[in-house]
Amino acid sequence: MKKQFIAGNWKMNLTLEKAKALVKELCNGLADSEAVDVGIFPSFVYLKDICDILKGHNVFVGAQNMNMEKSGAFTGEVSGEMLRDIGCTHVIVGHSERRAIYQETNSMVNAKIKAALSNDLCPILCVGESQEERDADKTREIVEGQLSGGLEDLTSEQVEGLTIAYEPVWAIGTGKTATPEQANEVHAFIRNIIRSKYNDDTAQSIRIQYGGSVNSKNAKDLLGQPEIDGALVGGASLDSNSFLDIVSEAVKFS
Ligand code: PEP
Repeated sequence: MKKQFIAGNWKMNLTLEKAKALVKELCNGLADSEAVDVGIFPSFVYLKDICDILKGHNVFVGAQNMNMEKSGAFTGEVSGEMLRDIGCTHVIVGHSERRAIYQETNSMVNAKIKAALSNDLCPILCVGESQEERDADKTREIVEGQLSGGLEDLTSEQVEGLTIAYEPVWAIGTGKTATPEQANEVHAFIRNIIRSKYNDDTAQSIRIQYGGSVNSKNAKDLLGQPEIDGALVGGASLDSNSFLDIVSEAVKFS
């Protein structure tokens, strides 16, 4: 069994005071949870404060997005170097909200992953199909396309530094979760793609999180699946009790 990785995507939520309070609650509750990797992904403007609070604690801090360029005239954007500079270790890339609302393409996602890796940031690459795509039996085609495009020109060593999050779009923020079997099947498919593009070691070592309405009630069944190595949690990560309950479930499968 791999060490599970539970990540909280806070999206555009919380105030600075609420974010700090939530981090403190998490620190208190996580005292003995070294068996699991835990990461939180606050909005850009709170990252520095949260990194400072979490210095010396066993919790990763990452951004929800980054720009693929090194520096320059890109008004409003944030580079990988800037994230690293303030203490971030991770970054979410290709979240379905960024793909759908901000038209991020697979080649942009690929450029962001390369920029993240060159700044020693560990990317979480999000992939997943919409409801229409699942209904049209295109889940595998969509996920395979997102992986091929997102991972283009990456070596097996680089891919081993990545986490992949399978997040069916129809399950995000809807309360509609993939069944553990549905999720496990796509995770196995993803691992097979990694195996055929790279090798068995890479396929075995890469962690594949499930994301989409994970909560303290369904976490046990999802995380108990053999191909599921953690969760990317949205809504339930905004409540310390729910998030800590999910981490506790993950401890059982690490
Ligand atoms: C997400 O946005 O990555 C996510 C999984 O959200 P939720 O848990 O709220 O569905």
